[in-house]
Amino acid sequence: MPPKWRLIQKENFTSIHALLDYLNFSEENRKLVHDHPPFVLNLPRRLAAKIAKNTPEDPLFRQFIPLLDETIIKPGFIPDALQETTFLEGKKLFHKYHNRALLLVTGACAMHCRYCFRQHFAYDTQTLGYDAELSYVKQNPSISELILSGGDPLSLSNESLKNLLLSISQIPHILRIRFHTRFPLGIPERIDNEFLEILATIPQQLFVVIHCNHPKELDIDVKQALKKIMLLGIVVLNQSVLLKGVNDCEETFLQLNEELANAGIIPYYLHLLDPVERTSHFEVSEKRGHELIQYAQEHTSGFAVPKLVREIPGTPSKTLLHPVNCL
Ligand SMILES: *Cc1c(COP(=O)(O)O)cnc(C)c1O
Ligand code: SF4
Repeated sequence: MPPKWRLIQKENFTSIHALLDYLNFSEENRKLVHDHPPFVLNLPRRLAAKIAKNTPEDPLFRQFIPLLDETIIKPGFIPDALQETTFLEGKKLFHKYHNRALLLVTGACAMHCRYCFRQHFAYDTQTLGYDAELSYVKQNPSISELILSGGDPLSLSNESLKNLLLSISQIPHILRIRFHTRFPLGIPERIDNEFLEILATIPQQLFVVIHCNHPKELDIDVKQALKKIMLLGIVVLNQSVLLKGVNDCEETFLQLNEELANAGIIPYYLHLLDPVERTSHFEVSEKRGHELIQYAQEHTSGFAVPKLVREIPGTPSKTLLHPVNCL
């Protein structure tokens, strides 16, 4: 019997027509939608239920439903904007920054975000397991933190995750293990007791970085699921992407970060959009990013203001874009 969350995931919307019917979309508004995108629709019911009917401007609609805007060709917006393939070690590991490496645990996600910077990535689906990647980590004692990313690492079964975590936790120089996941926002049932029990057995300090862009993604079930993780002494952080029509106004941005803080989640990064093909309609200027950060800084607690960053390929870290003196 598959776990409950897997059954919920099977109910995801994958047909655009079925979703537009569900959302009572008018003929007029349907003309805005791209009905056969290369990066297919994949949307949990919980998120679909939060979208206002017949409203293409809805911030969740914009994040998850393909618009014809995806066919716009804008110079500079390319498939591998971060030149990630040049940084691969083995088939599933990036070691770009000094003390940490990032493992592509899977290509699968709970949902497909239209602005995803890895939507063009050719995930390796042939090789089973992570032997080559873990042996690279073992041979590199400078790596003290391993990040489980993807795709979404919580797409794996509890059993596979447990095996992976146990192998990692046996590497003596690994002191921290971090998850990058969007799963709990779409299917909070994923944080089941079995998963929590596995986390509780790992001796290293764990971090969970969720990815939430709009306050509508947070609700009581999501917050309760994340609270169960925090009760294990695990730090939960959030990263957002600055997206046009989603979180680029002062009130929404402040509300997002306040609601995260109210739930005990620390806003970590606000990423400027990576210039990835088919995402140019989400672009927001760096200047606007500074304005939003400045506004949040003036209206809420210091720890509820994320760092504004951009990723520049070939640099030794995310590039911090200091808000002060830049306006
Ligand atoms: C973003 C990223 C990290 C994590 O960077 P932090 O600044 O520590 O959050 C690690 N490895 C890769 C390849 C990344 O892209
Ligand atoms: S959950 Fe993350 S990896 Fe998956 S589509 Fe969204 S942004 Fe991309």
